[in-house]
Amino acid sequence: MVDKNKCIGCGTCVGICPVGAISFDEDGKAKIDKNKCIKCHTCEGVCPVGAIEIDKKEE
Ligand code: SF4
Ligand code: SF4
Repeated sequence: MVDKNKCIGCGTCVGICPVGAISFDEDGKAKIDKNKCIKCHTCEGVCPVGAIEIDKKEE
């Protein structure tokens, strides 16, 4: 999930996700489509503010 209080809307995660699971919501914050996400954890590493956490147990 994305911590919307931390996300600064830089768009880095949106561009890097290999399956296009991340988009912006109406607030300009990143949003992950859990049905598309393959839990590769790439986005976690690229977020400059550490706003993303992919929880394996969550889904
Ligand atoms: S964990 Fe991988 S597949 Fe899931 S949203 Fe992040 S970059 Fe995309
Ligand atoms: S990389 Fe982080 S700060 Fe940038 S849009 Fe994604 S979640 Fe938000």
